Amino acid sequence: MSTKTDVKTFFNFINGSWVEGSSSEVKGSINPANKNEVVGNVQMSTIEDLNNAVDAASEAKQAWKGLSGAERGNYLFKVADILESRLDDIAETMTREMGKTFPEAKGETARGVAILRYYAGEGMRKVGDVIPSTDSDALMFTSRAPLGVVGVITPWNFPVAIPIWKMAPALIYGNTVIIKPAQEAAVTAAKVMECFAEANLPNGVVNMVTGSGSVIGQGIIDHPEINGITFTGSDQVGKQVGQGALARGAKYQLEMGGKNPVIVAEDADLDLAVEATISGGLRSTGQKCTATSRVIVHNDVYEEFKEKLVAKVKEIKVGNGLEEGVWMGPCASESQLNTVLSYIEKGKEEGAQLLVGGNRYVEGECSNGFYVEPTVFDAVDNQMTIAQEEIFGPVLALIKAESNEEAIQLANDVKFGLSASIFTTNIQKMLDFIDDMDAGLVRVNSESAGVELQAPFGGMKQSSSHSREQGQAAIEFFTSIKTVFVKG
Ligand code: NAP
Ligand code: MG
Repeated sequence: MSTKTDVKTFFNFINGSWVEGSSSEVKGSINPANKNEVVGNVQMSTIEDLNNAVDAASEAKQAWKGLSGAERGNYLFKVADILESRLDDIAETMTREMGKTFPEAKGETARGVAILRYYAGEGMRKVGDVIPSTDSDALMFTSRAPLGVVGVITPWNFPVAIPIWKMAPALIYGNTVIIKPAQEAAVTAAKVMECFAEANLPNGVVNMVTGSGSVIGQGIIDHPEINGITFTGSDQVGKQVGQGALARGAKYQLEMGGKNPVIVAEDADLDLAVEATISGGLRSTGQKCTATSRVIVHNDVYEEFKEKLVAKVKEIKVGNGLEEGVWMGPCASESQLNTVLSYIEKGKEEGAQLLVGGNRYVEGECSNGFYVEPTVFDAVDNQMTIAQEEIFGPVLALIKAESNEEAIQLANDVKFGLSASIFTTNIQKMLDFIDDMDAGLVRVNSESAGVELQAPFGGMKQSSSHSREQGQAAIEFFTSIKTVFVKG
């Protein structure tokens, strides 16, 4: 158990320096595998701190956008090298702070390195088109202008990858940045920020202000000099961000929840489908926006699939993500655990049948943490709460379908549309699914939670603001198109 004296306190990073918050108030970040361990303290900043960061970012923006893309890219290559050299330390911090297993945390940190390198290279790629003018003496082309100061608001579930997949494109396209990471994962974010700090980007180009969503997050929404806001988190907060940004004419981008289905057709490879359902649904304790949460299975193979799934779920080793052999860690926080348990209760109340799991997990040292058993419900109706609302925990709902058409119709019958997958060996079923599934990511014979950094990422319906992140799609949010007409 940590004592007060060996807990490190992390500062804000503003205008190239680490500075204490103006209130001097700090908050301990708790290890969800052992609630007695404080991973680190972070600043509970005030609007004054945010204003200082915005002043610094505004001051820095002219010179930063004046650099060439290649010059900005060189800074990102440096950040990538530093992050890579600290991969194990940062991954361990992530596991301690939000609970995902160490191998997953390492994979995520390596992803962060790859994203930085991808966007570093993006500084050398094309940014516009030449368009023939009707005036034969003129040259007409498009170019891209950065937004200016960008506010980045991130969740705790991918505390390295999400901040980086927002900050790296913001920076390469010439914006300056203020990030407010989720409090639940602010120590990990501070360690990522240390990599940026040591790469010596010019003062004010990147800034981090930690603190509560209602103060610093809301401050980003309201600040007149923040020209764009990129947000990932819950749909409730996302809507507030969108409304606030719209009210003052700032550009915004929202990536929010999911209620992602996997469809298992009667001709599917069932072992593959079981493996992908477990991986997509229960890795990271179900706390991925792309996690599988509804499993829509054809009548003819329902019983066989169910039996295989339950047998495999029973084998899952739950425990501290730093221990070798552990497959699933705790929920990221006590409030997350309570949310998951209340959805499980709701599922039982509404008549779904519990096949496996359903309880808090308290074996041995796990009694000090926020663990829940991997849980599968049978006989779920798509209108039940557990089939409609995002649970963000290791809970799978099995739903029966009579046909492929009905499966797709059930899959679409939710407010979200982030990711979806189908398991089938029939090409027509694949094509129907690709055409008719309302989701930003549609995946065939592969789990719902796979994302590649070089491809566009985002949702349909209420999963996003209909924008896309990652890959070259990121340029659409982080720049404005300028149409240029030149006549000699
Ligand atoms: P959240 O509660 O919405 O928080 C996200 C961020 O918003 C945090 O930094 C939070 O600060 C901040 N915030 C809270 N209230 C705010 C306010 N009034 N104004 C401005 N900012 C505010 O979400 P979460 O619980 O951290 O993350 C889980 C959610 O993220 C899930 O719904 C999941 O689906 C979604 N998610 C989506 C994607 C995607 O790409 N689609 C990826 C990952 C996660 P605090 O730290 O102070 O709470
Ligand atoms: Mg924590």
